[in-house]
Amino acid sequence: MSEHLSNSLQQKISERLRFYEDIGVGHFYRDRRDAGLTPEPQAVAPAQQSTQRNEERSLPKPQSKPLPPVAPALLRKFEPPRVDDGPSLFEASNKIENDTLLKIREDLGDCKRCKLHKTRHSIVFGDGNPKAQLIFVGEGPGADEDAQGLPFVGRAGKLLTQMIEAMGLQRKDVYICNVVKCRPPENRQPEKDEVAECSPFLLRQIDTIAPKVIVCLGSTAAQTILQTSRGISHFRGEWIEFRGRKLMATYHPAYLLRNPAAKGEVWKDLQKVMAELGLQVKKGKSA
Ligand code: SF4
Repeated sequence: MSEHLSNSLQQKISERLRFYEDIGVGHFYRDRRDAGLTPEPQAVAPAQQSTQRNEERSLPKPQSKPLPPVAPALLRKFEPPRVDDGPSLFEASNKIENDTLLKIREDLGDCKRCKLHKTRHSIVFGDGNPKAQLIFVGEGPGADEDAQGLPFVGRAGKLLTQMIEAMGLQRKDVYICNVVKCRPPENRQPEKDEVAECSPFLLRQIDTIAPKVIVCLGSTAAQTILQTSRGISHFRGEWIEFRGRKLMATYHPAYLLRNPAAKGEVWKDLQKVMAELGLQVKKGKSA
């Protein structure tokens, strides 16, 4: 079989299998519909697209069964402490009518609202499907992201991509952004004033995309959005209601690079997200 696979595909499968091994998935099945029992549609796309589809079909699917969708009654009513006298991020009343990602980006402009602009190379606005049902929110850009102007493209980004693909999705199906759009120097955590200046744009992105589920990657994203100083371990993996949407906090991929043993916990969290989005219920459904 390997003689038919390109080196890049072999490497991708190898990385995917390693990821599944890390998260405790050791067995795979092959859907009979993928085993050639269903006639293939006539290929009309260019050869490159056809090859890509074949490669995607060849990737293993996780065996784990999705958990049932969360019942509304199980959603945790998170009571965040109020910060200063400003409006709570939980209040959706400041929604801008007919807002679009383009407008938000235009409003951001060549932003110098906080000191992070002094050391950035790029504003990393966000990337992905503007109608995504699933948004991942990280802390802020790192060096690779600052250089390329795209979120999660470094080592941690590669792991996030594996996580997304393990869910049966592709990056283009979801939307990925950060709490702050400019890289904090030395990859330090964003400071309170920086978050205060930048987070309104994040909230506009969330409101505009109107996802079904928000996944906060890491404590900074979760603490910022939930306006709490409590450690992520207090609410990781639990459904929280946020501005009328379901929010799940889980560990940041960079943390997983340092602590691979935590990948299994993140996979459990993502399985809850998959169930909520109906993934694996209807094969091929995208977020
Ligand atoms: S981090 Fe946000 S608020 Fe600060 S300069 Fe960059 S875009 Fe503007």
